[in-house]
Amino acid sequence: MKIRRHKHTKRVLKYYKANFKFDTKLFNVLIDGTFANEALNGKINLAEQLPKFFDVKDNKCKLWTTKCAIHETEILGKPTRGAMLILKQYQVAECKHKRNFISSEKCFKNLISESGDTKFIVATQSDSLKEIVRSVPGTPLMIISHNAINLEKPSEKTDDLVNKRLEGKLAPNLDQMKVIKQLKKKLNEQKPQVKRIQKKRKAKEPNPLSCKKKKKTQQFSNKK
Ligand SMILES: [Zn+2]
Repeated sequence: MKIRRHKHTKRVLKYYKANFKFDTKLFNVLIDGTFANEALNGKINLAEQLPKFFDVKDNKCKLWTTKCAIHETEILGKPTRGAMLILKQYQVAECKHKRNFISSEKCFKNLISESGDTKFIVATQSDSLKEIVRSVPGTPLMIISHNAINLEKPSEKTDDLVNKRLEGKLAPNLDQMKVIKQLKKKLNEQKPQVKRIQKKRKAKEPNPLSCKKKKKTQQFSNKK
């Protein structure tokens, strides 16, 4: 089971690396309260287990959260106190919300849409946040299922984008399109000319019947 999961993870990471220039030597995992809570319930120490999961040294796997996500665990009180303590150990990714905290879902959505060079892997157990992550192409989603960390296979939206890019590569590029357009234009310009030449030629050609008649009359007159 473990080996199969490891192979699956490698394949998924390879996909993100090939299609989204994902860094597979330095991992940035963005964690919300639901994920921290699930890890706590399953006695999974994320700081220890995540580097092992990615098969890298501890310093090559950074765990992130946001002030909004921490605040969310604070206002929920006792049930999420453990998750809050865990999140507070992680690095805080700067979000735009300062003290006007919003839900971790909306906060993470903003971050992954504008993350630029820092590509996050989003770790959550929230169904609505999972849907948000799946809707942003190129964003890996991490979940805990059956008490094990799992990297979800690329979403449909991600696959769609990759396929569209591939189609784009096969289609003619801008330079090729210019040449094609010029050729089409030339062909269109040539068409009426060809017709005109054919007509002129026809008009210039003498009527064979009239020629024969003339010859006959000439011959006739000569004999006379
Ligand atoms: Zn925020």
